[in-house]
Amino acid sequence: MFSAETPLDRPLPLTIDPSGLHVRQDGATTYMAGGHTEADPTVEFDDFEMDHALWQDHIWPLLATRIPAFEAIKVQREWAGHYDFNTLDQNAITGPHSEVANFFFLNGFSGHGLQQSPAMGRGTAEYLTYGGYRSLDLSPFGFDRITQNRPFFETAII
Ligand SMILES: Cc1cc2nc3c(=O)[nH]c(=O)nc-3n(C[C@H](O)[C@H](O)[C@H](O)COP(=O)(O)OP(=O)(O)OC[C@H]3O[C@@H](n4cnc5c(N)ncnc54)[C@H](O)[C@@H]3O)c2cc1C
Repeated sequence: MFSAETPLDRPLPLTIDPSGLHVRQDGATTYMAGGHTEADPTVEFDDFEMDHALWQDHIWPLLATRIPAFEAIKVQREWAGHYDFNTLDQNAITGPHSEVANFFFLNGFSGHGLQQSPAMGRGTAEYLTYGGYRSLDLSPFGFDRITQNRPFFETAII
């Protein structure tokens, strides 16, 4: 979260740079930005340390390049957190287990589970009720792709 010495003269909706940097307005003169390293590393479960170099050397320069008014800003507060992450293809796993009967997956959303949850919930309800998908075919997200090493890549991750 940061304040800008010269706030923008118009509202800033969520804006995503191809690098994965994202920024949006969060208050009259304050903004929220986030990002991650090129390779998002595995960390210890209790590691919530902020990587200050990431902000200083990576996120802020990108931000100031994209929006020059953000060269003069003051960080107000910061937060580091964890994502559940499917390392095969950054995508959800849903549907039945291929070997264990009566075991269903609905996990591995890799940072984009909120937006997928309505469809995933409906698909899972359909599978449990009818034994198959009805509205949308969610089988590409199935567990088989994991055991067969067939990634179904999601690239639009921020
Ligand atoms: C900072 C942040 C920002 C995000 N922003 C977005 C966004 O803008 N858009 C978007 O689409 N997604 C976003 N996501 C991702 C989204 O929040 C997740 O993908 C989604 O919440 C995953 O839902 P889930 O039900 O699979 O897992 P979770 O929501 O993690 O639920 C798993 C539950 O299982 C419980 N649990 C764990 N172990 C056990 C156990 N042994 N016994 C019983 N219960 C257990 C946990 O307590 C938890 O309540 C964001 C995530 C984070 C962290």
